Amino acid sequence: MPELPELQAHAERLTGQFAGATVERFRALTFTALKTALPDPSATHGHRLTGVDRRGKYLLLRTDATAASAAAGAGAGAAGEGPVTFVVHLMQGGRLRPDEKQAAKPRGGIARWTFTDGRALLLTEAGTERKAGVWLVAGDLHAQEPLAGLGPDADAIDERTLADLLARHPMRLHGFLRDQHLLAGVGRRLANEICHRAELSPFAGTAKLGGDQVARLLAAMHAVIADSLAEERGRDDLGPSKERTSAVHDRAGQPCPVCADTVRTVAYRAYTVAYCPTCQTGGKVLADNTTSRFLK
Ligand SMILES: [Zn+2]
Repeated sequence: MPELPELQAHAERLTGQFAGATVERFRALTFTALKTALPDPSATHGHRLTGVDRRGKYLLLRTDATAASAAAGAGAGAAGEGPVTFVVHLMQGGRLRPDEKQAAKPRGGIARWTFTDGRALLLTEAGTERKAGVWLVAGDLHAQEPLAGLGPDADAIDERTLADLLARHPMRLHGFLRDQHLLAGVGRRLANEICHRAELSPFAGTAKLGGDQVARLLAAMHAVIADSLAEERGRDDLGPSKERTSAVHDRAGQPCPVCADTVRTVAYRAYTVAYCPTCQTGGKVLADNTTSRFLK
């Protein structure tokens, strides 16, 4: 799944290509593509796309249209009349790209934005999961679904906030880093890379981390994200995760680039935690029945 740096670089690319273009029409191509009933997408027709931003793992296609929000009157007073934004989640296999062909039935097509200059943007999703989607939100984005409840962005969080979150949510560090309600933008690859850079075990208890460890974690988080962002800004599209430079992620059985110890893994049903014993666990190899495969 694309994570914070990939999505940030992609948002910047899309802004460069499409900011200022006037929306002719937004059309959902599947029944499940559009996750909201109001505002109606036609509210954006004839209005400009002002830019593309990112929050967590969501892309925000901002327009200069205004509309009343579906959430208006639903309490909190945060929602209401305001600028209309398309909030897009790519999930695992989604892509949002310029649509050169504008085919009637594009392969994997989820939604399409056409612009008055003849260009188009197409949201596609590989496979059959159909989880990628678009929310249309008017007014205060951050108080409404799907962004309400996200933790602070990992590239912007400060040490005090991080220390507080860690102390209040006792769990394994790797799980903490990936929990979007606690910290937004980090997925499996970044979690592996951040723990390695911080020289912390992915299984360390969050509430037990000392002040120096929290400081190291924050520095590692910001450094890994900055490195990844620099790499992504050099690309012209969202590439597959295999192409990204990693120290431990997807490198089981290979030497750690810091100390040359063998990178180990602990596999779960949906993901794999990768770590270097020498750098992260005091040399201790954690129990995992998949590791033996790499030792043969
Ligand atoms: Zn190492």
